[in-house]
Amino acid sequence: MQFRLIWLLLYLLLSGPSAAQLQIDDKPSQSLDKTVFYFEDPSGQLTLSDMQANTLKWYLNTSGALSKGFSTSHWWLRITINNPDDKQKSCFLEVGHPLLDYINVYITQQGKLIRHYASGDKLPFYSRPIDSPVFVFPIQWQPHQTLDIYLEIYSQGSIQAPLMLWKGDAYYSHLTHIEMMHGVYFGGMLSIILFNTLLFFVLRDIKYLFYVSFVISSTLLIAGLSGQAFRHLWPEATRWNDVVILLFMCLTSIFAGQFTNHFLGLKALSLWCYRIINAIGIFSIFVFILSILVSYHIASQIAIATGFTLAFFILISGVYGAYRGNRSARYFIISWFFLLVSLMAFLLSKLDFVPTNFLSENAIFFGSILETVLLSLALADRINSERQLRYNAQKELLDTSERMKIELEEQVSKRTHDLEEANKKLENLSNVDQLTRIYNRRYLENAMKDEFKRCARQKHPISILMLDVDFFKQVNDQYGHVAGDECLVQVADIIKKSVRAFIDTPARYGGEEFCVLLPESDLESTRIVAERIRERISETNIVSGDAVFSVSVSIGLFSDDRCESSAEQALKYADIALYDAKKSGRNRVILYNNI
Ligand code: GH3
Ligand code: MG
Ligand code: MG
Repeated sequence: MQFRLIWLLLYLLLSGPSAAQLQIDDKPSQSLDKTVFYFEDPSGQLTLSDMQANTLKWYLNTSGALSKGFSTSHWWLRITINNPDDKQKSCFLEVGHPLLDYINVYITQQGKLIRHYASGDKLPFYSRPIDSPVFVFPIQWQPHQTLDIYLEIYSQGSIQAPLMLWKGDAYYSHLTHIEMMHGVYFGGMLSIILFNTLLFFVLRDIKYLFYVSFVISSTLLIAGLSGQAFRHLWPEATRWNDVVILLFMCLTSIFAGQFTNHFLGLKALSLWCYRIINAIGIFSIFVFILSILVSYHIASQIAIATGFTLAFFILISGVYGAYRGNRSARYFIISWFFLLVSLMAFLLSKLDFVPTNFLSENAIFFGSILETVLLSLALADRINSERQLRYNAQKELLDTSERMKIELEEQVSKRTHDLEEANKKLENLSNVDQLTRIYNRRYLENAMKDEFKRCARQKHPISILMLDVDFFKQVNDQYGHVAGDECLVQVADIIKKSVRAFIDTPARYGGEEFCVLLPESDLESTRIVAERIRERISETNIVSGDAVFSVSVSIGLFSDDRCESSAEQALKYADIALYDAKKSGRNRVILYNNI
């Protein structure tokens, strides 16, 4: 008996009298977190009257907001609040965690039930007495009235119950602030989604598609977690509301992974990171199926662990990407770091590792919007650097093709030049006699055609000489063919030197016969040239090896003062004159006209 008394005294001393009973003050809101007693009922069988019986051992919540992590027990909370005023008081009791499956609120006075509220996200949204993303219950106090408020909470998700008592209109102004903050957040996300969707349609870059999908699913996840999705999007779909959190978690994981794979080019960078991220994506689908078929309670814990692992891996991949020289990976790392920290704060508070407060509750909003904006920046940077790379590659290609074009042009012009040279040589070869190096018969005939035409047009004189070495057969016979060849070379040389360069055309006509075309040359001048040739040849000693000998030539001359005959006729007449020169004794010049 004595021992029980000491224990009670100690208990009261430690918890303080305010813990036992709270008085409504004049401030707009009062936190009830450190005033609340809790009792865990693992069986879930106990009722309000069990709670009211003074036999149970209640614990005072001494930390921040009551947070019990994942637990399938029924959690009973008890607060005693007194109205010290002479006036009636209307307040709102807020349970600040929107994902609780069931909340029963029992308002009692001296063991008598005054009011009962049944709420929770397993019931349609319209069943809530106050339109708010979290759970809010109106309570009235008569002057000096003391109420014992019992809350029975059970949920498949994490058990959290931040409790606040709001005075009258103060709650509505608080709600307006929350709504504004959520409005800014969801509006911001919506514009990011719309903008990047448009960018995807313009750029047709798959990275944008994954980015937008990731932002949509993560925004919906946060809408679900904050209670706003249930409130605005599907207020009656309680079964669906049960599924969505894990569905969006799964989709967020998949799209975040795919975005990372494409953004960092992980397949090429590190096949292992790529595979792990894909494997986590597939695993999160299994977790989602598990949540439907087996247990939401277990699946949600696995899903949180999976989300953490993935975010951690994505961060590591980003660091590796930056290490391997991906410039845009820096923005990527910073953005994921922010998300990871905010996720950590949020989830650790859900798992009861850190106290639930404004920062841990809202970190996810700040982290997510910061991450989304930074990722958008990273993406723009990535697209920019890809464009720069493409530009550089194109420039290099252009430069190379320009250089190749110049080289090709140089080669073509060199080849053309070579070809021209070769053609010239070939032309020369086909126009020049190989033994004597003077023109051949082909060239002579062409030159005669042109010159006869020109002289005929201008009525100018034209002459032609036909030469034949006398008794040349004997030279061959006597001194050999080599000496004969040498003789022909020297005769050709004398003929060439005896006529006008660039005007007259000396040519070998065939065998030991030569021909000279002399345009603008009349009979007298031609005769002088013919005599000069004949004399010089007959006076020249031809030397070949040991042999020294001389030869003479017979020359037939044809001259036309007004160029009235044709080239063929002229040749024929000169040949006739030559024949006559041979006949009349050789070593002489005979004119065709003289016959
Ligand atoms: P003619 O005074 O009547 O002209 O007597 P010819 O011996 O000069 O005349 P013919 O037509 O009988 O002989 C010409 C010779 O010239 C025959 C041929 O072997 C020789 N001949 C022709 N072309 C060449 C050549 O390119 N080189 C040498 N070595 N001999 C040639
Ligand atoms: Mg002959
Ligand atoms: Mg001869």
